[in-house]
Amino acid sequence: MVDSGIQPWLFNVEPYEGESLSHFLGRVRSRNHLTASGLGQLAGIGAVVARWERFHLNPYPTQAQFEALGKLLGISSERFWTMLPPQGEGMKCEPIRLCGACYKESPCHRIEWQFKSRWKCDLHNLKLLAKCSNCEARFKIPALWEDGRCNRCRMSFGEMATLERL
Ligand SMILES: [Zn+2]
Ligand SMILES: [Zn+2]
Repeated sequence: MVDSGIQPWLFNVEPYEGESLSHFLGRVRSRNHLTASGLGQLAGIGAVVARWERFHLNPYPTQAQFEALGKLLGISSERFWTMLPPQGEGMKCEPIRLCGACYKESPCHRIEWQFKSRWKCDLHNLKLLAKCSNCEARFKIPALWEDGRCNRCRMSFGEMATLERL
């Protein structure tokens, strides 16, 4: 059969409020059993997905890339821009940080946790974690946060919040 150019059918994944690009792309891929290069290929944007998932944003994503990806996934390009720091806000791609209390309420990695200027969660008055409060392992990139647990000791991110206070 010749490929007739029909859009492949994908499961729709709704972004969470404040969700980071890495975490969202990881959910899209795992829901649809796609590799990073497979998703890039479907969207026609090449091999950028794996880099974006690591927050390696040099060169920075372009409007055309977000439009192409958005067309495939049914998401507006504006929505993608909110998954990255706003203009003028510096970003750290490592260590990956999190607020366990936020995660408990909304199971996603929030882009604001990677802002250079951010070191605590104002909502919960908790210091952002840069490693597991139990075993001190560093967190994986958000695209690989399948179940919201430490990759080494399996403690849930939500539980970590109860161990750490400012
Ligand atoms: Zn929080
Ligand atoms: Zn751990």
